[in-house]
Amino acid sequence: MIEVVNEQAEMVREQTEPRRGRLLEGKTALVTGASRGIGRGIAEAFAREGASVAINYCGSEDKAMETKALVESFGVRAMVCRCDVGDFAQTEQMMKDVIREFGRLDILVNNAGITRDNLILRMKEEEYDQVLDTNLKGSFLTIRHGARQMVKQRAGRIINISSVSGLLGNGGQSNYSASKAGIIGLTKAVARELAGRGITVNAIAPGYISTEMTSVLPQKAQEALLGQIPLGRAGEPEDVAQAAVFLASDMAAYITGQVLSVDGGMYM
Ligand code: NAP
Repeated sequence: MIEVVNEQAEMVREQTEPRRGRLLEGKTALVTGASRGIGRGIAEAFAREGASVAINYCGSEDKAMETKALVESFGVRAMVCRCDVGDFAQTEQMMKDVIREFGRLDILVNNAGITRDNLILRMKEEEYDQVLDTNLKGSFLTIRHGARQMVKQRAGRIINISSVSGLLGNGGQSNYSASKAGIIGLTKAVARELAGRGITVNAIAPGYISTEMTSVLPQKAQEALLGQIPLGRAGEPEDVAQAAVFLASDMAAYITGQVLSVDGGMYM
């Protein structure tokens, strides 16, 4: 009975809702770190809006293949690219592969990121270097290799995933906060450089989002974070993905060099 009512409601909605085209129809996107979490959410949302998606990952091949199947279920093209975004040569090769496969690059999302938390007095050099290499240098490298194609096209959208930690700073995360604040500086500088070529460059600063990255935090830390969120809940990858769809779409054509917080009000 409930199923019949739901079906009828769905039919009425389909007949009465104004039809809109898919926001990213025919576009091509590369999303780094798309094997799971926020990156997978963005890949799925882009595909739902009609974009073909290149799914980058570093270690989790099975998960990346799951994202590929998810993307293809929306009737768009998908490809999977294994690459450590912190490596100059690998990132250059990935970009060549994507452009060879898709013919163009309309949207680049720098989402790949890691944490190696420690207090400043105990932080090891390699903990600092690993986080900066993946989060900040990785974003620089994909832009360095991908922007050339966008300049040729005289169009493109670059979206860098920063963090509330880059805006507020977070104890125990000096490496991560530095990388995420660096991403904001990178975003603004590149936005100024590329604006004349029809390319927008923006950042999204998520707050506390339910993914594998945050599931490893101690229960007490998770509760403390929840207590700092005016909207009273953790975010979901979909919350961030919707902001990415907006910034990638024509609706955001006049927005560049901005940081959009998606954090339930943590930073205001
Ligand atoms: P996650 O679940 O840990 O996923 C991280 C993704 O990055 C995975 O797909 C991973 O792929 C990929 N990755 C890691 N190192 C890589 C490398 N060297 N090269 C290429 N890919 C690499 O994390 P998440 O929570 O979805 O976070 C995604 C982004 O949002 C990160 O930049 C993170 O800093 C940012 N963010 C997250 C939160 C949050 O609360 N979750 C808040 C603010 C900002 P493999 O497993 O294949 O290596």
